[in-house]
Amino acid sequence: MITRFGAAMPTDMARRLTDHLTRADGQEDCCFVLWRPSTGAHRTSALVVDAVLPAESDRIVHGTVDFTSAYFRRAAQLAAAQNCGVGLIHSHPRGHGWQGLNPVDHAAEEGFAAQAMALTGLPLLGMTFSGADHAHSARIWQRHGRRQYEPLHAGNVRVVGRQFTATFNPRLMPAPPAPDTQLRTVSAWGATVQETLARLNIGVIGTGSVGMPIVEALARTGIGQLTLLDFDAVESVNLDRLLHATRSDAQLHRAKVDLAAEAARRAATNPAFRVVALEASVVEPDGFAAAADCDVLFSCVDRPWPRQILNLLAYAHLIPVIDGGVSVTTSNGRMRGAEWRGHVAAPGRACIECLGQYDPGHVALERSGLLDDPEYITGLPTDHELRRKENVFVFSLAAAAAQLTQFITMVSAPAGIADTGAHLYHLTTGTIDHEEQGCNPNCPYSGEMHILGDAAPAAVGSHPAAEQARAARGRQQVV
Ligand SMILES: [Zn+2]
Ligand SMILES: [Zn+2]
Repeated sequence: MITRFGAAMPTDMARRLTDHLTRADGQEDCCFVLWRPSTGAHRTSALVVDAVLPAESDRIVHGTVDFTSAYFRRAAQLAAAQNCGVGLIHSHPRGHGWQGLNPVDHAAEEGFAAQAMALTGLPLLGMTFSGADHAHSARIWQRHGRRQYEPLHAGNVRVVGRQFTATFNPRLMPAPPAPDTQLRTVSAWGATVQETLARLNIGVIGTGSVGMPIVEALARTGIGQLTLLDFDAVESVNLDRLLHATRSDAQLHRAKVDLAAEAARRAATNPAFRVVALEASVVEPDGFAAAADCDVLFSCVDRPWPRQILNLLAYAHLIPVIDGGVSVTTSNGRMRGAEWRGHVAAPGRACIECLGQYDPGHVALERSGLLDDPEYITGLPTDHELRRKENVFVFSLAAAAAQLTQFITMVSAPAGIADTGAHLYHLTTGTIDHEEQGCNPNCPYSGEMHILGDAAPAAVGSHPAAEQARAARGRQQVV
């Protein structure tokens, strides 16, 4: 039984639904949708995959909407054939914001709940579209007993792509009042953006030199919840780049994620702030499940396997991933240049693999453990991308700022612009390259894996380096 629920769809799906549900005569309308589950550690999301629009004979429009049972069966059979659930979305033309379930809607959806379950094996998804502001509300109808189905309301409905928007259920996720500590921030982008930020669960995957300042910034800005993942310990070689880390943290081999969680609690301005810290990798089942609970993810990892997993979360599970990184070029012991990047992987934008941020061929190498084998690594040419470790705190901060800027642009859409492309900054020339193209034509992430949710190929597994790091600290995970 699902106990925490959410829903998400890509922007082009939201646009199709808006086009269908907005009628010139101002009447209510409805249609069926197909959805797939995306299961996290605590939350299951319904990902809206497709709309089954009514044929002219399917629809009888009057004050409130009605539809023929043949139309429902057609939609449910389509859903079953594609291993999807079926959902019913209807409009409230003058509705604004989150919509509750009135007795008429309740009865209409309840009437399909048992058949939806029987035909598709998944609960009926119910959704309401608010005509005034294009907000979405959602619930699923689970079986509680013989012929007894009850709605479980979503905490939020996210629309992801070039922009990120979310409608929150005010009963389950009320907007916390902005405290006086956020006065300057709210005066910049307004209460509406702040109320979104204040209710997001943002994952920071990797709390090293780039992730740590990102955690600091997000906590101070007033994000509602942070989910932090890292299995590494603080070492003395980190002290030139790791915000908050002390010599004693290095001597104690303190978990980086522990340090990040403590710093986040100290910096947080949101009175309802929560932090979940896991000494785990996103490639491990527990780490993956925690990441799948998030609304947005920051990728602050430098290995191909976790980057590939994050790419999967962005397209198959509709959780936008803000990725970035630093690359320093040296020759004969001197710096020749440095570059840092910030970009967002989300439907309609180029994925991390198409942007060349990891080589899929290296994922198998990492899974085999070779990348953690010092003999293998020292056998690589010194300038091999898997061997290079050069980094400087200033460049980490610049990369963190590039990623945070991408995030803020995507959520706040200043002057209506939410996507300014992938950014590549060059130290030597002081210039920024913008890449605005989407994925390569045959990319599997925006192709066959798009919105597969739990049906996407499981690419998680055991990660010996993470297991060893935890064992060396003599414990499993801290929450
Ligand atoms: Zn209604
Ligand atoms: Zn791609």
